[in-house]
Amino acid sequence: MQWYRIAFGIDEVYSKILELDEERRGFDFNTDGAVVKLDDMSLYSLAGWTSKFPRWATAWKYKPARAKARIYDITLQVGRTGAITPVAELEDAQFEGGRRPVQLSGTNVSRATLHNFDEIARKDIRIGDVAEIEKAGEIIPDVVRVLPEERKPNSVSYKAPTHCPECGAPLVRSIEEAVLRCINPECPEQMRRRIIHFASRGCMDIDGLGEAVVSQLAQLGLVKNFADIYSLNSEALYRIKNFKQKSVENLLGAIEESKTRELWRLIAGLGIPYVGERAAKDFALAFKSLDSFMAADMKALSDISGVGERIVFSVLEFFKSGENLRIINRLKESGLNLKVEESAQSAAFGGKIFVLTGTLNSMGRSDAKRLIESYGGRVGSGVGKSTDYLISASENSTKLSKARELGVKILSEVEFLEMLKAAENSAGFGVKADEKETKKSENNSGAKNSGGGQMSLFDF
Ligand SMILES: [Zn+2]
Repeated sequence: MQWYRIAFGIDEVYSKILELDEERRGFDFNTDGAVVKLDDMSLYSLAGWTSKFPRWATAWKYKPARAKARIYDITLQVGRTGAITPVAELEDAQFEGGRRPVQLSGTNVSRATLHNFDEIARKDIRIGDVAEIEKAGEIIPDVVRVLPEERKPNSVSYKAPTHCPECGAPLVRSIEEAVLRCINPECPEQMRRRIIHFASRGCMDIDGLGEAVVSQLAQLGLVKNFADIYSLNSEALYRIKNFKQKSVENLLGAIEESKTRELWRLIAGLGIPYVGERAAKDFALAFKSLDSFMAADMKALSDISGVGERIVFSVLEFFKSGENLRIINRLKESGLNLKVEESAQSAAFGGKIFVLTGTLNSMGRSDAKRLIESYGGRVGSGVGKSTDYLISASENSTKLSKARELGVKILSEVEFLEMLKAAENSAGFGVKADEKETKKSENNSGAKNSGGGQMSLFDF
């Protein structure tokens, strides 16, 4: 799908933007804006860059679509860390004949997160209110405000819950967060969510073990925590609805295969609060094994650049829990991979920190990042004292001046490619690095050609 128009002068640009606004409603995907670009590349250097973005390409965002909806109920969701999230249950406020979802930019909307209870109080959101909703970024529906003029006279302020809706344990509010939490370690809903997280694509990537299957296994009492996944046998799996021989075999195979996953995936899958993919990778790289990660003290954890105080305390707290340790021991007994294999490949960039600026000609940013990481390097977001290299494909940028100021080694794109080549040779690979990466990123639809997808502004 391509939609582009050539326009002369700013008035014409604006009329094309309006034209697209009409037409985009007929697209079979959602859009939230347009990109206006100079079509004479020789003018690019003249237009230059701001600190982050090119001036020869700029985004136009359409106003998000809004609609009116009645909040007929506020329900509560318990997350894997016990955080309680209030959710607005929505219906079409104009429709009289029963309950039906609201139409908003071509989709049915029946729920919207209200984030937390402070947000509800701040916006004075009440059950029964009519609210204005919009789709932020055309994806996630959001309650913008309620309309007090449409409020019924008997309406009452919403009261935050005091007990977990799933297990009944009293809720706790920590001082520094606006979040109410269930801190019952045996809360069944939290456990279910943790298993889903553990098996998810960003963690242990167990194919076929999605939310629906986990929920059934939990309901049947076959899994209580994620270590139980490795005790499942075919007899147990046959009890899942519509599971025949093939699906049972596939799932058992996927579970077996997950035992060989990289250490960072296991660390991310443990569900330590605030430890996402980034921190999990940093820990795996720094400690090389689950045991040394678990044994790390405050100093060792704080020494890792990019790991803040909140993460450090969360890790220390997590490994203090007897229940967590029991689960981890069972994972160990199940034969999961607990180490980083120190291959020649991952040693090539030996933990060096790279920062990128500008647009590389040869690859997108996310591909560059994957390559650096596959050779054991790390990618930082800003230039600082701990930065080892700035890969600069931009003639002037804030990062470049900062790197010069701090004496950080600056690599041109060609020098970076040479470094990759040297790393590849020292690792003794027959295949080219980018061929390997293509295989890895197969399901990252078109990442190779689109420059990674996330930074579409830079793809020209
Ligand atoms: Zn609970």
